[in-house]
Amino acid sequence: MRDLPAQTDVLIIGAGPAGAVAGATLVRDGFQVLAVEKAWFPRHVIGESLLPRCNELLAQAGLLEALQSRNYLPKHAATFYLGDRTQRFCFRDSLPGDWVSSFQVPRDDFDQTLVTGARKQGVDVRFGLEVRDAAFRGDGATVALSDLETGEAATVEARFVLDCSGPARVLSRLLAMDEPADILARSAYYTHVEGDLRPEGEAEGDIWVVLHPNGSWIWIIPFSNGRTSVGVVAEQATFDAYEGSDHDRLWAILREEPNCARRLAKAEPVMKTQRLHGWTTITRKLHGPGWAVAGNAGDFLDPVFSSGVMFALESATLAGQLAGRQLKGETIDWDTAYDGHMQKAIEVFRTFVKAWYAGDLSRIFFAAVKPQAAVRSVCSILGGNVLNQENPLVRDGCRAGLDRMLEGVARLEAAARRA
Ligand SMILES: Cc1cc2nc3c(=O)[nH]c(=O)nc-3n(C[C@H](O)[C@H](O)[C@H](O)COP(=O)(O)OP(=O)(O)OC[C@H]3O[C@@H](n4cnc5c(N)ncnc54)[C@H](O)[C@@H]3O)c2cc1C
Repeated sequence: MRDLPAQTDVLIIGAGPAGAVAGATLVRDGFQVLAVEKAWFPRHVIGESLLPRCNELLAQAGLLEALQSRNYLPKHAATFYLGDRTQRFCFRDSLPGDWVSSFQVPRDDFDQTLVTGARKQGVDVRFGLEVRDAAFRGDGATVALSDLETGEAATVEARFVLDCSGPARVLSRLLAMDEPADILARSAYYTHVEGDLRPEGEAEGDIWVVLHPNGSWIWIIPFSNGRTSVGVVAEQATFDAYEGSDHDRLWAILREEPNCARRLAKAEPVMKTQRLHGWTTITRKLHGPGWAVAGNAGDFLDPVFSSGVMFALESATLAGQLAGRQLKGETIDWDTAYDGHMQKAIEVFRTFVKAWYAGDLSRIFFAAVKPQAAVRSVCSILGGNVLNQENPLVRDGCRAGLDRMLEGVARLEAAARRA
């Protein structure tokens, strides 16, 4: 089948951001890598707002220059809206050492750019091939593939398999590793538009996260190609309370919120309204003998803080490094070095996501006065620096840190009322 190698050091399932970065990490370490992708690129995926930590990880994988050549819109801040209250978290106000900007990226172009960059470094990427099965032995695996164009079947022997298959979660399903999600299943309705009225200057590239009185939140993510991604996230019952098609429901919600209504007054959709439901996934184990899962093929929480691609790159980089060390003969304690490490990082965002939907974060974000140290800590997390031990929210426990911030905000508000 298509001159497919009979064996490889590492077989990667999926060539999204996790697959491309894991592949680049491993070929740079001298390994033969075959990445098998069932789609043909470019293909549409959601997940368009990156965090500064992504740039750091892409630089490590030798892929940042390729992105810089695409002229994506720089993202310097996340701006949150609640009626007439607003809070701009600028990544420059983050902690020392954090990267301070990122990009807003149309994902078809971004994923294509990453995969082309990974190929240039030596990753053997094959499109239109689907992984159907994998049989693991102590020293590797036999992976069964199907050519989606010709219908032919083939097998490849791999010393290590890295599952980067995103929401398809190939190994989690084959090995029955799904755990029940602990975050409520929500829906997203979204589209791309042209003609939104953007802020001028550096703020043009901000992501807007807008709270709607009906309990939903709205994302606005502008691109350098003149298009803008616009989406609403809510419980399905919220959408069901509006009448008409998916398009009608999306636009009714957008027009009800004054900040969005102003910004989108002249905007026209250029994409059919898309609908997604229930994305939170939890995997019992991120590794086993001869395999690991990275990116959305493992855990994914929620889109609210645009952390999906960052976690995909963080886990893919680490899994690629550890797999490489193991293939060179080192004994790796994957429980600590991979699962434990990633769980610490994921836990910070899990706390943030839960605090967002509980309303605690908006009490901190939109407080008229708040401690500067709190702004720095929050900026660092929103930049994706979830392992920075300089941040009290990371070092001393995120929930306890948020509780201290809430107390600090209450104290400052009481003092302001007394003054
Ligand atoms: C509503 C919503 C909004 C989001 N917004 C953001 C955002 O603003 N910023 C952000 O960072 N993240 C966001 N995300 C998350 C983001 O989409 C993902 O985290 C990111 O795409 C994960 O990358 P990945 O490489 O793990 O998987 P993917 O990008 O999904 O890539 C997986 C690849 O594997 C391939 N594949 C699947 N099965 C097989 C198989 N059997 N054989 C071969 N190939 C296979 C697929 O075709 C695909 O190309 C959002 C998610 C949702 C649901």
